[in-house]
Amino acid sequence: MGIPTEVDHDVIVLGLGGMGSAAAYHLAARGLSVLGLERFGVAHDRGSSHGGSRIIRQSYFEDPAYVPLLLRSYELWEKLKRDSGFDVYSITGGLFIGPEESTTFAGSLQSSETWGLDHEVLTAREVHQRFPAFEPGDRQMALFEQLAGFARPELTVQAHIRLAEQAGAELHFGEPVLSWSCDDDGASVVTAATTHRASHLVICPGAWAPELLSDIGVPIRIERQVMYWIDSIAGSAPMAGGPIYIHENERIEQIYGFPAIDGPRGGAKAAFFRKGTDCTPDTIDRVVHPDEKAAMLERVGELLPGLTGDVLDAATCMYSTTPDEHFVVARHPWFDRVNVACGFSGHGFKFVPVIGEILADLVIDGRTDHPIGLFDPGRLLQ
Ligand SMILES: Cc1cc2nc3c(=O)[nH]c(=O)nc-3n(C[C@H](O)[C@H](O)[C@H](O)COP(=O)(O)OP(=O)(O)OC[C@H]3O[C@@H](n4cnc5c(N)ncnc54)[C@H](O)[C@@H]3O)c2cc1C
Repeated sequence: MGIPTEVDHDVIVLGLGGMGSAAAYHLAARGLSVLGLERFGVAHDRGSSHGGSRIIRQSYFEDPAYVPLLLRSYELWEKLKRDSGFDVYSITGGLFIGPEESTTFAGSLQSSETWGLDHEVLTAREVHQRFPAFEPGDRQMALFEQLAGFARPELTVQAHIRLAEQAGAELHFGEPVLSWSCDDDGASVVTAATTHRASHLVICPGAWAPELLSDIGVPIRIERQVMYWIDSIAGSAPMAGGPIYIHENERIEQIYGFPAIDGPRGGAKAAFFRKGTDCTPDTIDRVVHPDEKAAMLERVGELLPGLTGDVLDAATCMYSTTPDEHFVVARHPWFDRVNVACGFSGHGFKFVPVIGEILADLVIDGRTDHPIGLFDPGRLLQ
């Protein structure tokens, strides 16, 4: 197979999951000819963007530096819902609960105060009075954020794909990329079917970053994570319509969860935050074992004693975690025509719309006004 020298497109987007589908849409909407390449189908369940729900929030305990991006992301979530007609997110309010000095509570408060975000501070007793299903320990505090809620990952990917195609993007599914390279005139991408060529390349590989982006020198660990859908026990306060939550206990174990968004028999989804085991996309154990379910029920019962019925369903998913748990979104360190978005470290989905916008800025203008200094891979180069 000869390598073509003519460019076929302005830009190739490699990977059409959460970030890549948003990038394809923003690039096509701004008039570029876009080719998107995805190894699986639309909104598949083998990467990091499935499972029905993802928390969205602004009082960001990970670092207040993320807040301006979240404010823009919220604007774009609203626009995505309007333009696509898909119900891509819901606002439920959110509780961030933990000991007074915990990252979850104190960090959320710091972000809220730094950026003047609306919030309320609640004692454990006030949490229980307002949301009867919740029973935090006496010495715990909560920050309540009215604007927190959840996004629907599969619908979000579908919405971006549909809007990208409407804007003229050519998107290929079931076409894995085998390798890519770059020269002074453009980028070449070899797939099982053919070799494509474009002026620019955007790489959004999710958990495949270690194989597709090994040359950026950032060590990214792929972690197996489990999501659980749990039934309430008879007579307990209902989980429907309530807030999303993140809870940290005295042992600094974080869990998070959602209301019963698929009705009571769908269960309420809960999971450990950052309690994964190393894996690769090829070796991940997709079976969820009885001891894992028992550990989840015991931990969630510390906060929600009624949410300890049967585990109705469970599924695995992958985090791509950097050493400092901040993202990598930047021009490739060695190739001007290549931009990368990876290492979302288990907290990237709420940023999907704004990452799409940032990647379009980087391709079209070579820079962005968004504050992405925190995501420069240079900070982690080995
Ligand atoms: C269990 C779990 C819970 C989470 N909860 C939250 C949350 O509550 N809030 C939040 O903000 N974030 C959350 N996250 C994180 C968030 O979901 C991820 O950061 C985000 O989905 C990552 O998107 P991505 O585009 O990087 O990866 P993906 O969506 O996986 O996309 C990568 C795509 O690249 C494709 N690809 C890879 N290699 C190739 C190749 N060679 N050729 C062609 N295509 C290729 C893959 O098939 C895939 O479709 C959670 C993640 C998990 C796993």
